[in-house]
Amino acid sequence: MSETGSPNLKPVADLNENEARRELAQLAMDIAYHDARYHKEDAPEITDAEYDRLRHRNEEIEARFPDLVRKDSPTFRVGGGLKSGFGKIKHVRPMLSLGNAFSDEDVAEFVARVRRFLGLEGSEDVEILAEPKIDGLSASLRYENGRLVYAATRGDGTEGEDITANMKTLKDVPHVLKGAPEVLEVRGEVYMRKDEFLALNERQESAGNKVFANPRNAAAGSLRQLDPNITASRPLHFFGYAWGDVSAPLGATQAEARERLAELGFSLNHPAKLCVSVEEVIEYYRMVDHQRATLEFDIDGVVYKVNRLDWQERLGQVSRAPRWAIAHKFAAEKAETIIEAITVQVGRTGKLTPVANLKPVTVGGVTVSRATLHNEDEIARLGVKEGDTVRIQRAGDVIPQVLEVVTDGGGAPYAFPSACPECGSDVERAEGEVDWRCTGGLICRAQAVERLKHFVSRDAFDIEGLGTKSIEEFWHDGLIRHPADIFALKAENLNGKEGWKDKSITNLLDAIRDRTEIPLDRFIYALGIRHIGQTTAKLLARSYGSYTAWENAMHAVSAERKANPDEHKKPELIGTHYAELVGIDTVGMTAADSLAAFFGEEHNIDVLASLAAVLTVTDVETPSTEGSPVAGKTVVFTGTLEKMSRGEAKARAESLGAKVSGSVSKKTDYVVVGADAGSKAKKAAELGVAMLSEDDWLAMIQAS
Ligand code: AMP
Ligand code: ZN
Repeated sequence: MSETGSPNLKPVADLNENEARRELAQLAMDIAYHDARYHKEDAPEITDAEYDRLRHRNEEIEARFPDLVRKDSPTFRVGGGLKSGFGKIKHVRPMLSLGNAFSDEDVAEFVARVRRFLGLEGSEDVEILAEPKIDGLSASLRYENGRLVYAATRGDGTEGEDITANMKTLKDVPHVLKGAPEVLEVRGEVYMRKDEFLALNERQESAGNKVFANPRNAAAGSLRQLDPNITASRPLHFFGYAWGDVSAPLGATQAEARERLAELGFSLNHPAKLCVSVEEVIEYYRMVDHQRATLEFDIDGVVYKVNRLDWQERLGQVSRAPRWAIAHKFAAEKAETIIEAITVQVGRTGKLTPVANLKPVTVGGVTVSRATLHNEDEIARLGVKEGDTVRIQRAGDVIPQVLEVVTDGGGAPYAFPSACPECGSDVERAEGEVDWRCTGGLICRAQAVERLKHFVSRDAFDIEGLGTKSIEEFWHDGLIRHPADIFALKAENLNGKEGWKDKSITNLLDAIRDRTEIPLDRFIYALGIRHIGQTTAKLLARSYGSYTAWENAMHAVSAERKANPDEHKKPELIGTHYAELVGIDTVGMTAADSLAAFFGEEHNIDVLASLAAVLTVTDVETPSTEGSPVAGKTVVFTGTLEKMSRGEAKARAESLGAKVSGSVSKKTDYVVVGADAGSKAKKAAELGVAMLSEDDWLAMIQAS
């Protein structure tokens, strides 16, 4: 390697243009090389500090010679991926699409075509492997010598996007394979389970973030995140059902290959069945269609694949689909019913959502009595009124949607309420937004109750024993109207209340007392400010450090915004505090405006004051590491960790003052060995470095 990282370089100010050009080219190469060593091979050659010095040098030169910034400049890349989008990966073998069958006849024709093409005798059976068609996104994982080297989306089939960093965060994606062919591309589907999708949407909703229409969109949105930490926080799974480039066959048949994939550690899509006749295939289709509603994941059909791989080879492909496979799609789950009423729900942030209350009807085995109408514009677009007969569909299997009006019930056009149905306050719809909102804030029962639920939820104050029902009840009794009331609860308030025994009262009061000390990030998140989800709350807490610093800054931001309500592009023109806020990583003007609005409301300030009076909000831990058993130690993680991702393991170790290194040397204090660890574990053994299992490690740092 060149000497670009060495400290005795010419000062940037002294470089001429030619020298700068040459050095930028060298730096681009070197940094790309080290990125690959670190991210793809897990084997860095230089320390993090040396690496940072390279990047810093590159930035300095670019700042002085902006015209020389290269297309492949490292500043556009974060680690493995591209910052301003994803890198591209050309598939060694194209990722194909599938032909479709919609009827039993289509299926029979598919099998007949296969027989004709292969010139089979009437007596010879064509075995068909039938399996569910997962409604997710396909991805290809390339392993070389048993190591995951990259992952890509299907893209246009020829070229996909580099999603390596993100795919590595999935539990179902092994980083290392034992006993795999030298080259193996495993293909399959990234998906989100239905229950996890609903829970994610609930979290998104309560954080004032975007909700997803169906599990497929949620999976796609979660995978296509530039920050792999976000992907890691989403419940994504992967089924392996196919392969691309392989250096040795996985078996003689599709069924054998599936078995091999399972042995290598991949999850398979079930139920699958080996069939020998069209009748059996159709029977399988009916069975799966019947089970569809009870499956954990969404499917949009089943796929039939000719079982023998030598036959697959001979059959080849036509245009973009293989001749040896076909997708048998399910009919969309639709039904017709009457809208008995249109009601409006009020959410935590005051958002009014119109809901169609339906005459109950079964759609694909599930009884549906409500469907969302999303917003006023959607009602207008559909032209729905109470009393109309409508066609509904369970989109992506989960949330029922109104597709269209079938028969006009003759009722009056629906008028969106001009007052909140919960509290009677005015409603408003801001320019450029589709939603109406109640302006009642905390005097609105619906909003207040939803906010309280959010306040005590798992990622906020996490007060066990204070469930939805209790909150609604306590609200009703006037016992808890504001968050601070929670901390004033006494045993005598609860004595004699239905369902409350001495034990449960003590438990609840203990749980509440436990939470009178709360980290700043949880506190901010708990306030339920629109657009301030967990990630943003963490960023704010980390940037401002203490409650007082944050509060002061937010008051200043609010004042600056009030004085400059019309600037919508340049934060600097609004004020220095405002600009500083927007300058924090991913905090944008939407979040900043929301904070400004929150701090501009007197009742919010009251809530904060009353909470501050009873709580101790603790500063965010900066890596002060007194008493940490691993402070100053050098740690190497190797192999596949089960309980946490690499990224999380590294972050935690660093927050405890440890130095995380990518390679084992005599200076290494601990090597934490996950499953299927390779050369690093061997080297550690040779050097006599202490080796810990993942559990040992966790036990050790837990002790701190
Ligand atoms: P389509 O998107 O309708 O062209 O269908 C082809 C896609 O189905 C493939 O690209 C895969 O992403 C997806 N798929 C889902 N499950 C399976 C499966 N079991 N076998 C093959 N493809 C599948
Ligand atoms: Zn209201």
